[in-house]
This record gives sequence, structure tokens and C-alpha cells, in this order.
Amino acid sequence: MAKDSKTLCKWDKDEIKDNFKELKKIVAEPRYVCRKCARAAKKEENLCKPEEI
Ligand SMILES: [Zn+2]
Repeated sequence: MAKDSKTLCKWDKDEIKDNFKELKKIVAEPRYVCRKCARAAKKEENLCKPEEI
């Protein structure tokens, strides 16, 4: 159950658990960090307030 339209920032605990394989792909080799949530991702579309690292 992939959540492509949702940013990583909005994942809740159950979504993190259920999509952990996808999560690892998203956070591998991070290029962006979310200024609001302190999460990191490879693609800026995965974050709500992305800023390049
Ligand atoms: Zn965010």
C-alpha cells in the first residue's frame, strides 16, 4: 500500500510500519531535509517543507 501522493511527513506510525521497505528507499541517500518535521528524503516531493542539504 504505497502512499505516493502523501509526503513522508504525514505518515503515521502504522504507515511507517506497513511501508517500511518503501520508507527505506525514500530516506536512502537523502538530498533534502524537511524544515518543519526534521525528516530527510531523496526527493523533495516526499517532504512538506523541503530544503536541499
Ligand atoms: Zn515536513
